[in-house]
Amino acid sequence: MMSHGYKPELSEGAVKCPIFQTSTFVFESAEDGKAFFEVAYGLREARPGEVPGLIYSRLNNPDLQILEERLCLWDEAEAAAVFESGMSAITTVLLEFLHPGDLLLYSMPVYGGTEHFILEVLPKYNIQGIGFRPDHTREDMIRLVEESGRKDRLRLVLVETPANPTNDLFDLRLCREVADHFSRSEERVLVTVDNTYMGPLWQHPIQHGADLVMYSATKYIGGHSDVIAGAVLGSTELITRVKTLPTFLGNMAGPWTGWLLLRSLETLKVRMEQQAENAGVVARFLKDHPKVENVYYLGLIPENSPQYAIYKRQCSSPGAMVSFEVKGGEAEAFRFLNNLKMIKLAVSLGSTESLAEHPATMTHAGLQPEHQREIGITPNLVRISVGVENHRDLVYVIGNALEKV
Ligand SMILES: *Cc1c(COP(=O)(O)O)cnc(C)c1O
Repeated sequence: MMSHGYKPELSEGAVKCPIFQTSTFVFESAEDGKAFFEVAYGLREARPGEVPGLIYSRLNNPDLQILEERLCLWDEAEAAAVFESGMSAITTVLLEFLHPGDLLLYSMPVYGGTEHFILEVLPKYNIQGIGFRPDHTREDMIRLVEESGRKDRLRLVLVETPANPTNDLFDLRLCREVADHFSRSEERVLVTVDNTYMGPLWQHPIQHGADLVMYSATKYIGGHSDVIAGAVLGSTELITRVKTLPTFLGNMAGPWTGWLLLRSLETLKVRMEQQAENAGVVARFLKDHPKVENVYYLGLIPENSPQYAIYKRQCSSPGAMVSFEVKGGEAEAFRFLNNLKMIKLAVSLGSTESLAEHPATMTHAGLQPEHQREIGITPNLVRISVGVENHRDLVYVIGNALEKV
């Protein structure tokens, strides 16, 4: 992965890929320029062995192309597209594949920004979204679609698993089955997975039947809380479609973002593995603590539950996200957060430093109170994204903050 897609001889022998901070690229001849545009604008198919030429950084740029090739290796995908944020990756997929009158089936809860787009923006284009829960069976999901009155217009199933912040798991095989059930001979219903919470190391949705995988690369892929970015991966055919809109919306990533992510990818595995190891220590400490009620962590799912079977099938690690309830209510949760040393009180996740937040009033503040209750976001719930610090320090500061409650 670390040298894939980059040729030092094309960049003065530089060991590392430079930042191609340029808006436009010089053509060697007018014929070259013509050929590059023909392929880029889809006026003709690329000839065998013909490499797409560099034109203009809204269409392509070496930092982004190399990053896309490297991202493909993690998910064993054919192609990738990188964006200036996770939200632009997700919304571009929704806008590309949904048409007025269509139906979208989505797992509940999804990331707040995604939910807002589904509930507030898509209806403007007469696109309806209906949500399903982790305990819904195949029959429940089929009934939801049939009762919507738009069963012939289901075109996309969007899944976020594990769900944020409670770590509920959705069965990707089931989502594939439901999508296949409603697929028409002329068009397959697509399954797209927001894999931000687990990927790209611990869960590979394409292997479980997904057509597209989406990321907020701001999280684990970036991993240092210093860049906002997104990515989508899938077959060449689908990614060619995903890349159409950015040409006109201009929401592709810039070269500097691409370069930062190339750098981040080199330590992705060591960072994520250390984070997961630390999270295991933190979760076990919390589980036995007298001031803590419920701990939501994939490594603590009871072995006889249906959730455990999904976990074993889909995830290769319990990850580094731990949510738990401090005994009491909002006041007790706030007292814990206000007394945390070293662990920063901030939203976002997947970074080298540990971050703690209060879902009910922060990341999930936009949800109606009854909806919050339904999906387990209680006033005493706290979420921690565990970083790479020494886990003895983490347990020490968490223990001290709990003492203050
Ligand atoms: C953060 C996040 C997003 C949004 O990504 P941005 O990079 O902030 O635009 C989408 N989905 C999930 C699961 C996230 O955690």
